[in-house]
Amino acid sequence: MEDTIAAIATAYGEGGIGIIRISGSESLSILNKIFVPFKKQEIESRRMTYGTVKDPADGSIIDEVLAVYMKKPSTYTAEDVVEINCHGSVISLKKTLELVLREGARMAEPGEFTKRAFLNGRMDLSQAEAVIDLIKAKTDRGFDVAVSQLDGKLSVRIQEIRKRILDLLVEITVNIDYPDEDIEYITYENVRENISLIGEMIENLLSTADAGRLIREGIKVAIVGKPNVGKSSLMNSLLRESRAIVTNIPGTTRDTIEESVNIKGIPVQLIDTAGIRDTDDIVEQLGIEKSKQAFNSADFVIFIVDGSSELTEEDEEIIELLEERKCLVLINKQDLGTVVEAEYFENRLSEAHVIPTRLVDGEGVNEIESYLEQMVYGGKVSQKDSVLVNNVRHVELLEKSLKALHDASNMVSSSEALEFVEVDINQAYTLLGEIIGETVSDDVLNEVFSRFCLGK
Ligand code: GDP
Repeated sequence: MEDTIAAIATAYGEGGIGIIRISGSESLSILNKIFVPFKKQEIESRRMTYGTVKDPADGSIIDEVLAVYMKKPSTYTAEDVVEINCHGSVISLKKTLELVLREGARMAEPGEFTKRAFLNGRMDLSQAEAVIDLIKAKTDRGFDVAVSQLDGKLSVRIQEIRKRILDLLVEITVNIDYPDEDIEYITYENVRENISLIGEMIENLLSTADAGRLIREGIKVAIVGKPNVGKSSLMNSLLRESRAIVTNIPGTTRDTIEESVNIKGIPVQLIDTAGIRDTDDIVEQLGIEKSKQAFNSADFVIFIVDGSSELTEEDEEIIELLEERKCLVLINKQDLGTVVEAEYFENRLSEAHVIPTRLVDGEGVNEIESYLEQMVYGGKVSQKDSVLVNNVRHVELLEKSLKALHDASNMVSSSEALEFVEVDINQAYTLLGEIIGETVSDDVLNEVFSRFCLGK
């Protein structure tokens, strides 16, 4: 971390401004070599200065810029940082960066600025990871979760749990090391109670993981049903714009149509499928094959039937595929009559939720959205619950530490020596430490920061 690093910090392309970021002990001296303030003044920390970037080799002007020097330690990386606001032109940014590199900086690796912030103790690992999530968030809700994690809410929760484990470890160690001293004796019952309390805290965090994952990655929803029942109409209502062609000639949705929508803060990928049915038409068969695949790769299925006429063999085929699957059944075209009853599906499909709809004018769509929302949050997580675990690495570590605690608890039950119990509890402590980066290997660090973009 001795060297000074630099990168283009803004997105590649044309824009109003583009920023070169430099971090490390040489930042200011590099700036002084390539930047000439218009008023020839000294560069002060935290003051934007107007001037030109000039190539010191031949004096040629590269760009007119605003530059700022931020003295350590209160900076993003906790090192000296310089930011040069160039015009948002790819050429200007490239040329300025080249100069900066020529004058002694090294090209930063992806995520290296944030990695330095972490290594310099500016933020813990879970906060550094929140920076990536924040940049990549697709919905407001995903963004909120990242902001809360960056703010340290998850870290605080993890530290609370670790503090409890540490207290327990101290008590056990004292009992092991100084059994003859006049100290309060810790009973097995006591240890078990403590372990179970800590386990509950971890389980509580883990119970938010499904919702966390879905908010981050979104869900894939397949819309199925025979031709002409209202799949495209639903798709359109959800998209609130007419991109999928709505027509009453069966089989026009030959291929699947995929669209991403934001439903109550959850990124949802909708897959509109051609009707699943036997057909000799080759083009249509391709579509149907695709539908079946989409159907199988979806997290959730919305099945639409025409409620104004009797169910057909095609409907039955789909119903068979849906047995045991969590799905939403829409009995559509309520305005044309109600031949099909909700009870029928409730009896046939134990995991189904039924909603009567009139998709032609959007009736029932709100209820569908609410149902999807409720399904994602699973009743366990309220919308405003701020701590959500949404990172696979964190989930794995929480699960492993829970397992270590279970092992410890089992040993307590069979009255094994406290020394052995301590090993497992210690393991849980270390694993939780990996979440915030207190106990973490270089490999893990490299893996985490490799997911960043350049310049962050
Ligand atoms: P898809 O083939 O399943 O995608 O069905 P579409 O969404 O293309 O709908 C087929 C036809 O049914 C269109 O003419 C729609 O306007 C009509 N439709 C859809 N929903 C309703 C509804 O609730 N009531 C009535 N009366 N017609 C509907």
